[in-house]
Amino acid sequence: MVDKAESEIIKAKNFIGGKWVEAKDGRTFESQNPANGKLLGVLPRSSPEDVEEAVAAARKAFESWSKYPAPRRGEILFKIGALLAERKEKIARLMTQEMGKVLVEARGDVQEGIDMAFYMGGEGRRQFGVTTPSEMPNKFQMAVRDPIGIVAVITPWNFPMAIPTWKIFPALVTGNTVVFKPATDTPLVAVELVKICEEAGLPEGVLNIVLGTGAEVGNALVQHPDIQVYSFTGSTESGKKVLIETASRLKRVSLELGGKNAIMVMEDADLDLAMDGIIWSAYGTTGQRCTACSRLIVHKAVEQELTERLVARIEKLRLGDGLLDTTEVGPIINKTQRSSVHEYVKIGQGEGAKLATGGYVAEEAELAAGSFYRPALFTGVTPNMRIAQEEIFGPVLSMISVGSFEEAIKVNNSVRYGLSSSIYTRDVNRAFTAIRDITSGILYINAGTIGAETHLPFGGTRETGNGHREAAWTAIDFFTEWKAVYVDYSGKLQRAQIDMD
Ligand code: NAD
Repeated sequence: MVDKAESEIIKAKNFIGGKWVEAKDGRTFESQNPANGKLLGVLPRSSPEDVEEAVAAARKAFESWSKYPAPRRGEILFKIGALLAERKEKIARLMTQEMGKVLVEARGDVQEGIDMAFYMGGEGRRQFGVTTPSEMPNKFQMAVRDPIGIVAVITPWNFPMAIPTWKIFPALVTGNTVVFKPATDTPLVAVELVKICEEAGLPEGVLNIVLGTGAEVGNALVQHPDIQVYSFTGSTESGKKVLIETASRLKRVSLELGGKNAIMVMEDADLDLAMDGIIWSAYGTTGQRCTACSRLIVHKAVEQELTERLVARIEKLRLGDGLLDTTEVGPIINKTQRSSVHEYVKIGQGEGAKLATGGYVAEEAELAAGSFYRPALFTGVTPNMRIAQEEIFGPVLSMISVGSFEEAIKVNNSVRYGLSSSIYTRDVNRAFTAIRDITSGILYINAGTIGAETHLPFGGTRETGNGHREAAWTAIDFFTEWKAVYVDYSGKLQRAQIDMD
């Protein structure tokens, strides 16, 4: 149930240089609940002028924050983690209302933020460098990490807490300052995160949030000459723009973009186990995870059984407001996105695939005000169809039949994206062959395509990104600059590669 406090309209602001402020020109935008269309909050619709102030604040704060001892920076992250844990339920409920995912998943989203706070808090006491012997006598050498500068964090709406924290916490613990621009569909959760960071004692200007659109705020960040690092998650189309725009300034850019993830089910698989993994990966979060399973590559020997069982399970999925205990699938983020998902269903039908179930706007009267959509399953899909190649980002699964393990691997790898893959098999040789031959950044054996943890690298190959990885030690690499240091204590000139004796 939505309690009284949850039904109040929230008036939020930007946080710049340690102060909560309106947009300079006073414009606003609204955040709505996709389950019922209700107004949740009113927020500043910022302009490049607001970005300018935030970057100036971040530039000023960098002077002291970059020199503040890393273990102390880590201690602030521990406090942030503790506050997030204390407010987990409150934030999860807000997230369910703002983004639509069911409460249990919203709790998981906040938990990812908590995990990242504690993991990166610990990095305050690590951030290991390297020492290595010199070619010369009486010479010491090492490589140390330096902070880089101002980081622009630009995030999508599907993981309103996890994605920002996966970027902001490693950026901060390594001594950078941040200007954060969340998606316009989920700004209220982002503001809660920033409030917690303020309360935990983050000095002014170290983290700034500027709310507003990609065209205005995002673009102003991308154009700004003083920003050295961009950490972007969103669509491949927007990510490419960010990369192209920042290329002439040779900026460091991490892109986490689209996916077309697949589960492969072999003829020797445990089908009960596979069923659970497929339903969770394809329809959990209403299919709106970057790692959501949108292709099911199934061995023809088990295709019919799997189809029948899947259709029966999908038709029983309960749609509704994510705050209700009975709900299994929440709404799509907004009606525009629902139309885009439905367009793909029509494309699939036009391509000759068979719509085995779902694929229409939910008809129940109690769902009419929200952006609900009946989860869809296509069978008879061939690997080159658009519904087998393009990211749909909704509850639509395309089943592709294959005749062998080798063909399954080939089909799995034959898309422009390379984020997450999964294989169900009881054959250990096949499992290890899959580990060798699958070309995505994440692979699950006997589990669905979702379930990343904070301490392994996260990201994908091909057009899912540009080669960086978030989370784990790889995030520390991304947010630091290496400095090689040579200390010659011989008291004489020693010429490298020349004085060999
Ligand atoms: P989007 O690209 O429309 O927007 C993402 C963010 O970028 C938003 O904050 C938006 O305002 C901003 N933005 C848009 N255009 C911009 C521009 N030209 N310059 C600067 N900023 C700009 O994506 P979305 O619809 O919010 O999110 C869905 C997409 O995100 C899907 O494609 C999904 O696969 C992807 N995603 C990827 C991952 C991953 O880790 N690989 C994780 C989650 C989501």
